[in-house]
Amino acid sequence: MKFNMPSCGGCCTCELACSFHQRGGFVPAASSLKILEKDDGPGYLVLLKEEPDGNSPACDDCRGLDIPLCLEYCREFDDLYKILQEFKAKRPQKNGAVQTEGGRYGGR
Ligand code: SF4
Ligand code: SF4
Repeated sequence: MKFNMPSCGGCCTCELACSFHQRGGFVPAASSLKILEKDDGPGYLVLLKEEPDGNSPACDDCRGLDIPLCLEYCREFDDLYKILQEFKAKRPQKNGAVQTEGGRYGGR
């Protein structure tokens, strides 16, 4: 699922953080989140993986952490936070139901 993030500076720290969460090392190819170039306008696109894709596992919302690791190291915390919340709300569950928001980051 892709999200427009005009404030994103393209530093890709979030990719490194996610790969550390997923694989215990800094391997951007193993990130569940990808920063993509846009055709026009400021910022970048944020791609969050709903399903595993090659070496990249699906985003697991960093369940169990108080703050998702990608978010913790993003300089645009509020904007990435909104994207993660939207992703959680829109992503269909395996049984087809739509997830509902629980606590700030968890509660599912
Ligand atoms: S860490 Fe934040 S500002 Fe940097 S690329 Fe990721 S979303 Fe963009
Ligand atoms: S919330 Fe998803 S994209 Fe962000 S670090 Fe956790 S698994 Fe990766």
